[in-house]
Amino acid sequence: MARSENNVQAKLVLLGDMGTGKTSLVLRFVKGQFHDHQESTIGAAFFSQTLSLNEGTVKFDIWDTAGQERYHSLAPMYYRGAAAAVVVYDISSMESFVRAKKWVEELHLQGNPAMVMVLAGNKADLEPKRRVDTEEGKLYAEDNGLLFLETSAKTAQNVNELFYEIGKRLARAQ
Ligand code: GDP
Ligand code: MG
Repeated sequence: MARSENNVQAKLVLLGDMGTGKTSLVLRFVKGQFHDHQESTIGAAFFSQTLSLNEGTVKFDIWDTAGQERYHSLAPMYYRGAAAAVVVYDISSMESFVRAKKWVEELHLQGNPAMVMVLAGNKADLEPKRRVDTEEGKLYAEDNGLLFLETSAKTAQNVNELFYEIGKRLARAQ
């Protein structure tokens, strides 16, 4: 993370099972768009987005996967140097929640100890298909030192909030 005056530049990575909505969350945040049939391998995506906060500006360098999570392994290089990580699961898939916990464990073992970590229960619009209780996600996040939000890239619920919360933490951590 680099800083000058009140300007912070921070690498942010997204982790989580394939299909949980990582790319969709980024595209919602960066472009305000959502696609029902998001291409799963959009390429090794990299986005930059700057937030203006009371605390100063935060420029996120956002790293999205190119689908390597399909093999349940991402090179530690992917999250090396990251100031923030968003671990995403799909509230309609218990399997994706189990996978998310594995990513959290891996980050705790191998990631930067000062990393701001958020657990995002995405697809919150799919309430009728819910398999992971809000309380379950929240408790796990609390017990493991993560922020927690339920989001929807489709309706935009909590998407800006997610990135602003991270930005605020990073700006204050200075
Ligand atoms: P990724 O593999 O984690 O990057 O997931 P994608 O962003 O490619 O999304 C996988 C699929 O889930 C796509 O068909 C998206 O349209 C859909 N999707 C992503 N986010 C949401 C959401 O919040 N709600 C709903 N209903 N569908 C979503
Ligand atoms: Mg993707």
